[in-house]
Amino acid sequence: MSETTITPATLYIVATPIGNLGDISQRAIDVLTQVDIIACEDTRHTGKLLSAFSIKNKTMSLHDHNERQRQEQVAALLQEGKSIALVSDAGTPLISDPGFHLVRHCRSLGLKVSPVPGACAAISALSVAGLPTDRFSFEGFLPSKSGARQATLTALANEQRTMVFYDAPRRAIDTVKDIVTTLGGERYIVIARELTKTFETIHSDTAENLQAWLEQDPNQLKGEMVLIIEGYKAVENEISAEVILSLIHISEPTRPY
Ligand code: SAM
Repeated sequence: MSETTITPATLYIVATPIGNLGDISQRAIDVLTQVDIIACEDTRHTGKLLSAFSIKNKTMSLHDHNERQRQEQVAALLQEGKSIALVSDAGTPLISDPGFHLVRHCRSLGLKVSPVPGACAAISALSVAGLPTDRFSFEGFLPSKSGARQATLTALANEQRTMVFYDAPRRAIDTVKDIVTTLGGERYIVIARELTKTFETIHSDTAENLQAWLEQDPNQLKGEMVLIIEGYKAVENEISAEVILSLIHISEPTRPY
């Protein structure tokens, strides 16, 4: 495997593991080693990742609260010819993580932005859910308050694509109750918890059964989770316009010649 050579004046968007350190790519290690500076959500958190791979490099914080100020600083460094990596605490930056404003700013200035792909909890969960993946809708975090959560779910009641959410497992019972209320107890759900970690659990059932399963096992309310909801399926005995037309055609009386 050839070692990566990084390009000057480039912002690298580098994915990091979502739990299992073995999921880091060789290219991510090479880029994080060679760039001039690493922008990260939490310098202490990323410091631990870097030391696990014996990477000694400078870090700067870039999080939701300072991203707008940092974008100018990062763009100026890139314009000087420096190369910079952006990482988040885990997974792919920008996916429910900071970086959108920075990337938009850099691209608007014509600066090079290049991905170093890797783990993403949403895609990892989708890959094992056993629900249609030809089309899906990533919905990010569900609101933490029940009223807002029910409103979000109600607005998605007729969404036919598989829906992927991030949510806290400690709220899982309340969330699943809200799914029963808004989408019905028969809606099929997949919970993907602690992916790539020791207590990885992937469990799927109807919303009603899943609620009972969560209520009898408090261990399922720990860690991190992705929730996937099957898309809305038109009721099978609903007769489509096409079927009605074909019935009309069949029942047409034979014309006399
Ligand atoms: N950028 C990250 C990515 O690419 O997946 C997501 C960051 S978001 C702030 C964190 C959320 O991702 C968690 O609350 C959880 O819903 C989900 N998540 C992250 N790691 C996970 C894991 N190992 N197992 C299940 N869900 C995870």
